[in-house]
Amino acid sequence: MPRPPFPRNLREFQRQFATEEACQQYLAACRWPDGFRCPRCVYGRAYALVTHRRWECASCGHQVSLTAGTILHNTKTPLTQWFWATYLMTTDKRGISALLVQRQLGLRRYETAWMMLHKLRRAMVNTAREPLYGDVEMDDTWVGGPQPGLRGSRQLKGRKAAMVLVAVEKRGEVSGRIRMAVIPDIKQTTVLAFVRQHIAPGSTIYSDGLKGFDGVRVAGVRHVGRTQPVRTALRRGVPSVVPLADRAIGNLQQWLIGTYHGVSKAQLQIYLDEFVFRHNRRRQPMAAFQTLLGLGTGRPPTPYRRIRGAQDLAPAP
Ligand SMILES: [Zn+2]
Repeated sequence: MPRPPFPRNLREFQRQFATEEACQQYLAACRWPDGFRCPRCVYGRAYALVTHRRWECASCGHQVSLTAGTILHNTKTPLTQWFWATYLMTTDKRGISALLVQRQLGLRRYETAWMMLHKLRRAMVNTAREPLYGDVEMDDTWVGGPQPGLRGSRQLKGRKAAMVLVAVEKRGEVSGRIRMAVIPDIKQTTVLAFVRQHIAPGSTIYSDGLKGFDGVRVAGVRHVGRTQPVRTALRRGVPSVVPLADRAIGNLQQWLIGTYHGVSKAQLQIYLDEFVFRHNRRRQPMAAFQTLLGLGTGRPPTPYRRIRGAQDLAPAP
């Protein structure tokens, strides 16, 4: 059962996943990339029980859920709608609102759209496990707009905006993967904790030379801090010392304004995760789609029953 090629645009997508059966076929292809194999008796043929979203072994009658271990498990919403919402979520650079999903999918209830997006967004959290490496630009920014009555750009007390730390892999002139996190301050301990979590030892960090970056060497990285030209000089076209980080921050700010019309401080990290998820997979829409639905690698964890009997170690018949 070959995995179908991933659609290149929305029209192809709708054609490929037009029915519940087609969506279930795709789930099965992800679950058994080498063809169905009964987890109980290893028989290689099954009947599709479409209304139950299960496959039944043609030999022993054992039933396997197609949605187990995915975010689609036990959902009453048609798979066609889930697939569509997930596709929009992974491919639309601007991101999508629940209202837009409700309209595009013709859903009767706003709550259904909201719930789907909520689940998809949660699936975007903690998907980034491999730390950044190589040359990495870092910078901090405020998210949350201007606020009157502040003394200086580093004032934390009474500040409504949130401070965000950004790291971008430098791949020649273009950016590789990114990471973003809401931080309470720009102290050395805070920056160090971020670096330990997100950047591999042996990497080189480029920054604007802020004091907060002074302690990062403890994490096994090199640090090159260069003084950033003043803002008026930057506007005149003097190059930034962290151009890729600047661009990522600019894109983030644009996206937050354009899509969400301001995000509360408490919710911000979830939106940062969404932005990072989409950026890091912008060239792999299929991987993004599968990750979000929780389809994994096509090799689900071995069921407990099989581990206990060490059947998973037995050679395939
Ligand atoms: Zn069987």
